Amino acid sequence: MSPVAIVWPCPLAVDAYVAAGRDVGFPRPACPSCAGPLVFWPGYRRYVREAGRCRKIFVPRLRCSRCGVSHALLPAFVLAWRLDVTETVGVVIAAVAGGACGVRPAAERAGVPYTTARGWVRRFRARGRELGVAFAALAVELGGAAVTLPDGAGRFVLAAIGAAFAAAASLPGWAGWARGGSRRR
Ligand SMILES: [Zn+2]
Repeated sequence: MSPVAIVWPCPLAVDAYVAAGRDVGFPRPACPSCAGPLVFWPGYRRYVREAGRCRKIFVPRLRCSRCGVSHALLPAFVLAWRLDVTETVGVVIAAVAGGACGVRPAAERAGVPYTTARGWVRRFRARGRELGVAFAALAVELGGAAVTLPDGAGRFVLAAIGAAFAAAASLPGWAGWARGGSRRR
């Protein structure tokens, strides 16, 4: 059993999350592997970069006594193994893969090094087909529209992600879970 990062829809912006420290109302979902109960386990600190500024945040961990595995509980604004906030990565990828501009102007606008942005785009392109198919399937599973747009791999993936997001955001429980989760302990 390998550790899985659990991403939760944190309603706080980076600043508010940093200010709250350990008092962020972290949710305690069931184990992603066995659905058993999880308990809080010592967390760790990591950096996150937003608008060119690095902040240190606390990431709690949850452990499953059945599996014996601990899972990091990541707020949705960070990505595992990436310094920059999710939104920055998304904006750069959307601009380049969507054909709006090249990597260099997108990186400059986002305030990240060119090589970093190039790395995201390369990785996205390398996994584009796989991602597009997975998100298109997810969109349909969530009751969204089927994605038909194999007009350039990058655009197909963006359309598929957009469709999955729209379908997820329209589920009745989503907004409620995000709000309730911030209060749960
Ligand atoms: Zn488990």
